[in-house]
Amino acid sequence: ESSEGLKMLEFRRSLPAYKERDALLKAISENQVVVVSGETGCGKTTQLPQYILESEIEAARGASCSLICTQPRRISAMAVSERVAAERGEQLGESVGYKIRLEGIKGRDTGLLFCTTGILLRRLLVDRNLRGVTHVIVDEIHERGMNEDFLLIVLKDLLPRRPDLRLILMSATLNAELFSSYFGGAPMLHIPGFTYPVRAHYLENILETTGYRLTPYNQIDDYGQEKVWKMQKQTMRKRKTQIASAVEDTLEAADYNGYSHRTQDSLSCWNPDSIGFNLIEHVLSHICKNERPGAVLVFMTGWEDINSLKDQLQAHPLLGDPSRVLLLACHGSMASTEQRLIFDRPPEGVRKIVLATNMAETSITINDVVFVVDCGKAKETSYDALNNTPCLLPTWISKAAARQRRGRAGRVQSGECYHLYPKCVYDAFSDYQLPELLRTPLQSLCLQIKSLDLGGISEFLSKALQPPEPLSVQNAVDFLKIIGALDENENLTVLGQNLSVLPVEPKLGKMLILGAMFKCLDPVMTVVAGLSVRDPFMTPFDKKDLAESAKAQFSGREFSDHIALIRAYEGWKDAEKQQSGYEYCWRNFLSAQTFKAIDSLRKQFFSLLKDTGLVGLDNESQNKWSHDEHLVRAIICAGLFPGVCSVVNKERSIMLKTMEDGQVLLYSNSVNAQEPKIPYPWLVFNEKIKVNSVFLRDSTAVSDSVLLLFGGDISRGAQDGHLKMLGGYLEFFM
Ligand code: ADP
Ligand code: MG
Repeated sequence: ESSEGLKMLEFRRSLPAYKERDALLKAISENQVVVVSGETGCGKTTQLPQYILESEIEAARGASCSLICTQPRRISAMAVSERVAAERGEQLGESVGYKIRLEGIKGRDTGLLFCTTGILLRRLLVDRNLRGVTHVIVDEIHERGMNEDFLLIVLKDLLPRRPDLRLILMSATLNAELFSSYFGGAPMLHIPGFTYPVRAHYLENILETTGYRLTPYNQIDDYGQEKVWKMQKQTMRKRKTQIASAVEDTLEAADYNGYSHRTQDSLSCWNPDSIGFNLIEHVLSHICKNERPGAVLVFMTGWEDINSLKDQLQAHPLLGDPSRVLLLACHGSMASTEQRLIFDRPPEGVRKIVLATNMAETSITINDVVFVVDCGKAKETSYDALNNTPCLLPTWISKAAARQRRGRAGRVQSGECYHLYPKCVYDAFSDYQLPELLRTPLQSLCLQIKSLDLGGISEFLSKALQPPEPLSVQNAVDFLKIIGALDENENLTVLGQNLSVLPVEPKLGKMLILGAMFKCLDPVMTVVAGLSVRDPFMTPFDKKDLAESAKAQFSGREFSDHIALIRAYEGWKDAEKQQSGYEYCWRNFLSAQTFKAIDSLRKQFFSLLKDTGLVGLDNESQNKWSHDEHLVRAIICAGLFPGVCSVVNKERSIMLKTMEDGQVLLYSNSVNAQEPKIPYPWLVFNEKIKVNSVFLRDSTAVSDSVLLLFGGDISRGAQDGHLKMLGGYLEFFM
């Protein structure tokens, strides 16, 4: 073997999981279900599947073994498979492969496949018994993602039918009992880990030792959005979460007598509702100036604040100097090429700083991290079942998550963790996070239950580890009926069947199908891809006005964020042909990366739609009416219905109302937010989100007749008789 190979082998043998190898294999061969827990980095994800693979090969069953290991996120499925292939001295696609929504590498001899949980659920659609699969490994179950909880119900159901199938559940925290008892007392194995000690610094210590001064002014400045901020604060007070009020209570009771006046003053200015960019900047420059070498991992809440923080840090004399600091981002929607940089060691004398979302808590291990900066928050979706509205708020993390974050600093040597909140706030955190199934709208999930033929929806969901509220389930079922995916008796309609194979939310899938039928596929695919990836329109804080007017130019007088998106994308396609895609994006405040993601998603839509038989082979006829923006607007309306609000034009402003929420507002980067008047009676929208008030992210104005015909009738038509009512319209257009 090469020395590289030997080194790898040595590394693998040094991991804590290696000592448990035989015990793990024995338990797996003797039990159908095994729960494995062990601290992050001990070797669960990369080693355990390999142990099984190797032992199957030793037992001469290598050719027939087929392991599937699910990951909650695309990027970890990819990163892990790459790592495992490298450990085996192979290329991806030999014994190890991966599959995620838009990509995958798998060969004839691939016995170990890493995939997203969603991909395995999709496979179950066409292969209910997972024929040929010998082992299913569900990773990161402690995260309690919706897909993972759902998969566990399905697998629990499947196990009696496949007595030879082995199920291994892997968790990074010690709540293994919960999963074990769900599977009738399955054996639990714990891999004792080893990490170096990590010193925790809470806000009071940070302020005391660095002398940094928090001021109320600074905090408002940090966010750059004073107005929103103030409004938020007022309403937050009204509808406070339990944790938020617990935090406030402890803060009131906290006593900092042992600290300097300066620190006490600072602490009284600390604002629990915002993330202080200036404080982060200060801590980072403190680390870079004073501390020993080692990478820094900063936990932020999401893509948006990572990007704004990155912008701010890039202007800093030390942190923005590429010869001294390598500034990287790590979040779920980054490009796959970007992710490799995170794992690489920076050049000598350069400090790596990774700004990450909570995905770096457990599923991704960056080896050289010595410092962790923890803002204490994560963006968590919650769901207000009463008003049938999803809410997206940065919320306090759990104690378990805070411990995880801290642990990331002790991988290779002892480390330091800077928690940017006082110790008493940590004490008020809840122990674990609420499972996603209990805080998300359930439409896609309910559609999947029907398409997998798993029986009655509420009955099925009542078998979950922690079942969702009946009202949430009812809302989802009602919605699927309204869009015509389910009939009155909760049976899947033809439309519903078609929707279940499209990897997007049901209503967006419906928009795609209508786009195909009405022969305006290209623009509709762009809208759907854009709505399911993310917004390509960027609004940097310091150039907000310029960015907004660039977007408004795309919309023209169409009063539509979606049409603006179509035009911006088409402009990018043209620019790409002339090799000036990046320049085009730069000029117009657009994200080239997002357009690339939209592009590949569009390709996938097209091939899936071809499979359904809804589009023919030639591209030309799919787009016979694509230039007709009235038709495209109508299809957008048909897809987004019943997401609609009425427009009331006032003297100098507009008032928007929906049936459920009363008054709603537009996000400031919507083209319609800049308009003094909207000459249409309705706006259709994809997403409303409760932050403080209810906000609409994106919207398209439509007329009465379009809303009635395309919003109302087409929905009903789809429901009544297998899209038969569409016939009339189709004749009109063909
Ligand atoms: P677990 O799943 O228990 O959290 P992993 O199997 O992901 O642990 O990782 C085991 C070890 O392998 C990590 O501690 C890390 O040292 C190493 N490792 C994992 N992924 C990579 C990678 N992409 N590059 C380099 N080392 C890695
Ligand atoms: Mg892991």
